[in-house]
Amino acid sequence: MAHRVTLIPGDGIGPELAEATRRVLDATGVAFEWEVQDAGEGVMAEHGTPLPEHVLESIRRNKVALKGPITTPVGEGFRSVNVALRQSLDLYANLRPARSMRGLETRYEDVDLVIVRENTEDLYAGIEHRVGRDAAESIKIITREASERIARFAFDYAVANGRKKVTAVHKANIMKLSDGLFLESCRTVAADYDGRIEFEDRIVDNMCMQLVQKPDLYDVLVLPNLYGDIVSDLAAGLVGGLGVAPGANIGIQAAVFEPVHGSAPKYAGLDKANPTALILSGALMLRHLGYPEVGERVETAVRDIIAEGTSTTYDLGGSTGTSGFADAVIDRLAASAPNAPAPATSA
Ligand code: NAD
Repeated sequence: MAHRVTLIPGDGIGPELAEATRRVLDATGVAFEWEVQDAGEGVMAEHGTPLPEHVLESIRRNKVALKGPITTPVGEGFRSVNVALRQSLDLYANLRPARSMRGLETRYEDVDLVIVRENTEDLYAGIEHRVGRDAAESIKIITREASERIARFAFDYAVANGRKKVTAVHKANIMKLSDGLFLESCRTVAADYDGRIEFEDRIVDNMCMQLVQKPDLYDVLVLPNLYGDIVSDLAAGLVGGLGVAPGANIGIQAAVFEPVHGSAPKYAGLDKANPTALILSGALMLRHLGYPEVGERVETAVRDIIAEGTSTTYDLGGSTGTSGFADAVIDRLAASAPNAPAPATSA
């Protein structure tokens, strides 16, 4: 039976990356039925909102979505569709793995971090207002319930994936009540995993410096929303940039798979942007749907193509386009298919 998946192409570079990824996922042999849904500025005129209810309904029905980036106007206009979607569907865990790839010139060769970002509250709750003409207030919401929930997700992920340590990241020295509650909640949950998963905490500014200097000391990081957003871009930078950083937003009822990067409007429509991050998000989706071996095959095909270096996009130093990179991955998948004919041996 085909898996019905909501496909939100997004805008900017989103549609071309989504098409490349759809072709790769279809080439795995897993049967998908794609329900394409549009969101963002392009649907405002017709629906009066950038996130129409029928898009949310589609995800609720299918329980799984693959999503390209969506532009958010800066300083004015509608609130982020990406944030609204995570909040509306209570996709509380934002999982962002950052793993070194052979063939990419980066400062370190062996980075293997998993960022677990709380996705529903903190300063992203969007509660802000002007106080008179010359001041503004943003309210930072931290609850015990959401903090314990994300900490438990991080520890369960660590157990399920053979990881050794969870580090809670905070600024509880300054925000003693809000970040203090986040840290206290992480400590409470950590006690349940005592002896199985090591636990420690770091202040966020120190964490950034340590990640840049010695990323190999860290494993799974759990963070409130804002620090998680920032530190996951830092982690992406350690392993080759935004073009290769996948992500997943996971809740109880649904999961939405999307890259860390945004819509990079200046590259839109040029067949230039790197589809790796969205393809690897698709591999995370395959794992979520119960196909870990197929997910692994996609990841290996992508990693091999990047390691060989002959078919990479501009950001990785190559000159292959978005669709050409997808073609190379598809060819590699065909060659590695379990029932593919064995290569002919020369006499
Ligand atoms: P961005 O991630 O879109 O781009 C920053 C730079 O990173 C680009 O100029 C480009 O050099 C590089 N880059 C990003 N993705 C790439 C790819 N796939 N291949 C090659 N290079 C890539 O960040 P931004 O410019 O800050 O944001 C642009 C828009 O995207 C904004 O409206 C922002 O709100 C939105 N955004 C959306 C999401 C999302 O949909 N989840 C996430 C982040 C930003």
